[in-house]
Amino acid sequence: AKSTGGARIVHFAPDQRSAPGRRLALEHQLHRALEREELFVQYQPKIDLQSGTLAGFEALLRWRHPEHGIIAPEEFVPIAEETGLIVPIGDWIARTAVAQIAAWRAAGLPSIPVSVNLSARQFLQGDVVLLVEELLAQADVAPHLLELELTESLSMADPERSLAIMHRLRALGVTLSIDDFGTGYSSFGYLKRLPIDKLKIDKSFIHDMVHSTDANAIVQAIVAMAHHMQLRVVAEGVESAAQAMALRETGCDQAQGYFYARPLDAAAAIAYRASGPAL
Ligand code: C2E
Ligand code: CA
Ligand code: CA
Ligand code: CA
Repeated sequence: AKSTGGARIVHFAPDQRSAPGRRLALEHQLHRALEREELFVQYQPKIDLQSGTLAGFEALLRWRHPEHGIIAPEEFVPIAEETGLIVPIGDWIARTAVAQIAAWRAAGLPSIPVSVNLSARQFLQGDVVLLVEELLAQADVAPHLLELELTESLSMADPERSLAIMHRLRALGVTLSIDDFGTGYSSFGYLKRLPIDKLKIDKSFIHDMVHSTDANAIVQAIVAMAHHMQLRVVAEGVESAAQAMALRETGCDQAQGYFYARPLDAAAAIAYRASGPAL
């Protein structure tokens, strides 16, 4: 496994993170971060577990703060959510990811899907369907190359509206996946109603699966049930060869995690594409 090209992310202690002064300052500075080009995207590889080849990338948002260095999305995405800034920022990430797909194509590289995380607010408030449709058309990118990662809680806020938006996105031909699966409240019965293609098993289950027979059984059950529903399954947070092997045994389709690669800057992602997973 390699870990090149990933920028270091500073995680602040909870007390420091929640300090009202810092929060207020960040909120203020986030307004200008987009126009000052302080935001950037890293791409984390997803590996096809059966063939061991690169299967896609997930676009992950980063903020290079002029004084604090790189700030983790866990700290500023909630601020962006609360202030509504997530709508323009989310638009920007989707645009950047689609531009990256087009750039790789222009460089002669084989097409590979890129996924983007959608926040609840962006999903329900902005016109995400129109945005995606326009982005794909402008860049002349095939819809199946764009994946949207949604969380279970997102569709809880307004189930009917969410379902309608998901159907319209799916009709465009983009791939829909449920992120952090297993951490929310939804059941397979509920999932069955959603027009989705993929499930991402939350990293907490992956972390425990080689030590805990319960966690292993849960992952096995999720994979079996998902496959029964014609869904592909991605495991996130894979950090060891033992986890990768256990996952392969369950029949899980794809894996993502530090064992394969950390999130990479665009340039490092190109290098990774050239050399392939070092396994
Ligand atoms: P997520 O969507 O569940 O993304 C996976 C997180 O796990 C990423 O953290 C990734 O760097 C991290 N990760 C990957 N492999 C491993 C591993 O092997 N071990 C461990 N411990 N962690 C691993 P990151 O980039 O800090 O993002 C955190 C969360 O912030 C994301 O969770 C997502 O909810 C949110 N986020 C990131 N980018 C965006 C974005 O563009 N839009 C929105 N709305 N949210 C985003
Ligand atoms: Ca995700
Ligand atoms: Ca996740
Ligand atoms: Ca998460």
